[in-house]
Amino acid sequence: MDMYTRAKNSFLKFSKFPYRDYQEDIIEFAHKSTKRFTVIEAPTGIGKTLCGMVLGRLFGSSIYCVHSKTLQTQVSDDFTGIPILWGRANYPCALFEDMTADACGGSAKTCETIDECEYHKAKERAATSNLAVLNYHYYLTEVNYVGRFSGRECLVVDEADALESVLASFIGINLSHAAIREFGINAPDYKTTSSVHALDAWKSWALETRDSMLLRYNELERFVGKNEIKTTAQIEAIKKMNQISSGMSKLKKFHDYVDVSWLYEEKDAKYGKSMHFNPTWISPALANDCIWKHAKRFVLMSATFPYLPILAKLLGIKQDEIAYRQYPSVFPAENRQVKYSIAGNLVYKEMKTEIPKVMTRVKEIINDTKHKGEKGLIHTVSYKLAEEIMKIKDKRLVSHLGDTDRAAVIEHFKSSDKPLILVSPSMDRGISLDDDLCRFIIWLKAPFLSLADKMVAARLYGSGHLGNMWYKSMMLLSIVQGCGRGVRSDTDYSTTYLLDEQIRKAMIDNPNMVPKWFREAIW
Ligand code: SF4
Repeated sequence: MDMYTRAKNSFLKFSKFPYRDYQEDIIEFAHKSTKRFTVIEAPTGIGKTLCGMVLGRLFGSSIYCVHSKTLQTQVSDDFTGIPILWGRANYPCALFEDMTADACGGSAKTCETIDECEYHKAKERAATSNLAVLNYHYYLTEVNYVGRFSGRECLVVDEADALESVLASFIGINLSHAAIREFGINAPDYKTTSSVHALDAWKSWALETRDSMLLRYNELERFVGKNEIKTTAQIEAIKKMNQISSGMSKLKKFHDYVDVSWLYEEKDAKYGKSMHFNPTWISPALANDCIWKHAKRFVLMSATFPYLPILAKLLGIKQDEIAYRQYPSVFPAENRQVKYSIAGNLVYKEMKTEIPKVMTRVKEIINDTKHKGEKGLIHTVSYKLAEEIMKIKDKRLVSHLGDTDRAAVIEHFKSSDKPLILVSPSMDRGISLDDDLCRFIIWLKAPFLSLADKMVAARLYGSGHLGNMWYKSMMLLSIVQGCGRGVRSDTDYSTTYLLDEQIRKAMIDNPNMVPKWFREAIW
């Protein structure tokens, strides 16, 4: 029996079955690669999770990182016996009945029940195991501020197309109105880095802000005291100290790594303004400090990745450090047909004249005899266009007004036995509409990121050709992701209609930005 089969068979659920198509190739490619980063782009259905877990086994000391709770649950079900660490809020506190481990994060050294603390035990199991499953945010927090899971041979990152946004939010400084008031934080003297003095002023601001936080931290520490934890007020104080401590660590990184590409923004919230510092791109030095120095090699897996030069830029690594392989879809192309059904050219200036043409095409598609009795999904890109669709006043159309009613609308759509059509600007990822839940998809408009977002504008207009490629690549990635919502197995089928000329143009002009398996399904 070869080592790849032995590694697979160590996972009980998979020991009775042979590898599926491409799985052994993925494992061998990553295992034999001499590069520090292996990027595996393999569409849904190949069974990437098993490949990642087998690689974790083969490399000896590894962490398998997931982004979504859905995937974490799936890994927990499929790989019994492998330590999995959930978010702290999933563990009850053994000391106080109505609290979870989120309260102190298992950090209460003076807790008398720490040996019975479920979170503490789960963390010990994961930390002493050769293979453990963590979520992105937990991993980043631990390796950066605690150091417990750092230094492993391999980090396998699933759903790695989301890694950059998680890293960016981990690195960015976001001070709410409440924090500004609590710590008495002043706005920085400079709002941009156009002045030669701005960077030094920002660094001084970071140190002053850290000092203000430290005063509060010390106050809380005195309150908690050195004796055993007896009250919930002490636990609340420890929770607060943990939050302040992470905030201070972030400010330290900001101080050490801030450069002229960082952006500062003030936003008006309900009770006052908030302050935000974010890097336009994560620099290689900062990326290395936050993630890459914490393991020897990395396997990044996803159904879709941005164009490789863009991926390297986003993650702060060099393209020649990457071994990359793209795999075909195991779902028949005829089951996931994508059709250009161009009805308009939705550029900003032409919007008024083009929207009615697109709406006419939407009516034609949803009333076509083929789709009249079927459930479908319309990606609208914006709430404004979702409202336009709802004006069609077809009883099958269901939409949501924002994030608050999104889950309820999805539930209503899924549980209904009527041929409803889900109309939404935010269903291109994270939703699985299997079989009859989605037989057709309409992409109304090219989902370009909003230029009102300072970061998007800075990347597009301030990074030359690369910024331009990033902007198009993100749009096309969104299309590919959105089309995948309706075909979830090799017997499932769904037809996608692309209505905007801007999508067709970007696809034809930039074939390398779209996976081969997707291009093969364009009818
Ligand atoms: S106080 Fe903290 S360490 Fe003690 S049981 Fe509760 S969560 Fe665990």
